[in-house]
Amino acid sequence: MEAATERQAFAPVRPSSGTKSKTARAISRGARERVRQIYRKLAQAWGPQHWWPAETPFEVIASALLTQNTSWTNVERAMANLRSAGVLSLEGIRNISLAELESLVRPSGYFRQKAQRLKALVSFIDANYNGSLERMFATPTEELREELLSQKGIGPETADSILLYAGLHPVDAYARRILERHEVVNASAKYDDIRLLMEGGLEQEDIPTGTALETSRPVVHSPSAMSTAQQSQRARVYNEMHGLLVQAGKHYCHKRQPHCDICALKDLLTAKQRVRFMGH
Ligand code: SF4
Repeated sequence: MEAATERQAFAPVRPSSGTKSKTARAISRGARERVRQIYRKLAQAWGPQHWWPAETPFEVIASALLTQNTSWTNVERAMANLRSAGVLSLEGIRNISLAELESLVRPSGYFRQKAQRLKALVSFIDANYNGSLERMFATPTEELREELLSQKGIGPETADSILLYAGLHPVDAYARRILERHEVVNASAKYDDIRLLMEGGLEQEDIPTGTALETSRPVVHSPSAMSTAQQSQRARVYNEMHGLLVQAGKHYCHKRQPHCDICALKDLLTAKQRVRFMGH
């Protein structure tokens, strides 16, 4: 297997195969500036989000699998067991016996199933990417998403968390919904087009500092190595943006009925969008 590259999962991705003109049609003029506005507005309103609360990309992957059907507190207990046993890595999960792994992840519930799935995912990464997360995350988003979804026990939410927080691929439905509603992109935009747009728009941005403007804001995680020191500035800003968009999507920009009147992005709506989503 390749030397450990787990901390360097922010790998360049090959652009999507769509033609330039198709991409141009899917992304609005001034889209980069709009991405910046959205980031600044949310960052000022809510402050740093520190997503995902993990130390390495592999920890993101493991916790995304363990968090299925249980609370984050239980995930943290299982993760603490894996960490103190020294197996919270591709190599660690590869080498530990299934029975030992089951016992370590027991606090997260469905421990037999989850232990098997962790092992199966590591086997998949070994077989297809020579044990390299960097190589895996350099795969175009749509292609990798399909591959992850074909793994037993990996549904859309888990696949998207892995792609987003471990690999920095912008795949979550929330980001797409918000960008579409603000007419930054349209429904035909590919995930990789959105990724390139986000990277371009946030290139010069900084991590939010200071106090959040809004007191009634969504609960945030404590800082973690993944959210602070391990990645480049650009990757951290990028993750912050996605943490913010996930919060906006979860709490305000609901699929059926957006709650624009209490959302931090309300001021960015055009008159037409206000009528569409707020009725006035
Ligand atoms: S709830 Fe409204 S203002 Fe907030 S992100 Fe969605 S469309 Fe924009």
